[in-house]
Amino acid sequence: MLCDLHTHSCYSFDANVPVDEMCRAAIAAGLTDYAITDHCDVDYEVNHWRPNLDRDAVWEEMTAAKEKYKGQINILRGVELGNITHYPDFADKVLDAHPYDFVIGSVHNLRGMPDCSSFNYQEIPEKQREFLFNQCLDENIGIVKYGRISTLGHITYMYRYIKLARLEMDFAPFRDKLCTLFGLLIEKDIPMEVNVSTMWRGLGFSMPHRELLELYRSCGGKLLTVGTDSHSTEHVGECVKEGFALIKSCGFDSVCVWRDGKRVLEKI
Ligand SMILES: [Zn+2]
Ligand SMILES: [Zn+2]
Repeated sequence: MLCDLHTHSCYSFDANVPVDEMCRAAIAAGLTDYAITDHCDVDYEVNHWRPNLDRDAVWEEMTAAKEKYKGQINILRGVELGNITHYPDFADKVLDAHPYDFVIGSVHNLRGMPDCSSFNYQEIPEKQREFLFNQCLDENIGIVKYGRISTLGHITYMYRYIKLARLEMDFAPFRDKLCTLFGLLIEKDIPMEVNVSTMWRGLGFSMPHRELLELYRSCGGKLLTVGTDSHSTEHVGECVKEGFALIKSCGFDSVCVWRDGKRVLEKI
C-alpha cells in the first residue's frame, strides 16, 4: 500500500496538469490509493475572488479516470474544501451536489484576510503571530465541528510560512487548544492529515510536525491520512514513504485509506 490523498489538477487555480495525467503519474509512482482534491475555498467561491472550481467538469473527469484505471489504482474523487466555517451553507451545497469519496477540510486564510502565505511574518511581532496562529486553530476547530470532512488538512499551514520567514514558534502556549482540537477529532472519528509537501520541498518537517503528531498520539489519536499536496506530476507520491517512517517513529502503525466507500486502516 502506498497512498497520496492530497493532490491538485488543472481544475485548481494554482495547478495545470489534467486529471488523467495526474492519475497516470500516480500509477507510475507505484501508488495503490490516490486522491484528486482540487481547491474549493468557500469564501473565494462565494465572492468570486478567483475563477470558481468547475465542480461538475472535474467530477466527470475524476469519475472517468476512476473507471478507466480500476484494477490498477484506487482513485478517490476528492475536494479540498477550504475555510468551510466562513460559509458553511455553501460548503453543504458543494457536498450535496456530488458524492465525494474524500473531502479535506482546510484553513488557508482567516476570515476577511488573505492567504496565510501572503503575510510578511518578519514584520509581524511574535505575540501577533501567535494571535494569528491561535485564530487558525479556532478555525480548524470550527471545521471539525462542522464535521462533513474525511480528514483535517495541514493544520499548521501558517507555521510553514512562519518557518519560511526563518522564524520559530513555540507550541507550548497552544497545547491546551491543540488537545481540544485533537479531542474533537477523536470524538467525531475524523482523521488528521500528515501533509508531506514541506518534506519534498526540503523544509525538513511535515504539517503537522513531530511534536504535534506525538501530542495527537498522547491524546489518543490514531487516525491519519497522508498527502503530498502535489500541484504537478513530479511530486505525486514524493516523500510518502518518508512520511510513513516519521509517523511510525511517533508510535502510529497505520494510515487511513478509503476503499469502496469505506474507510480502512492500512498497516505501514
Ligand atoms: Zn491546502
Ligand atoms: Zn492542497
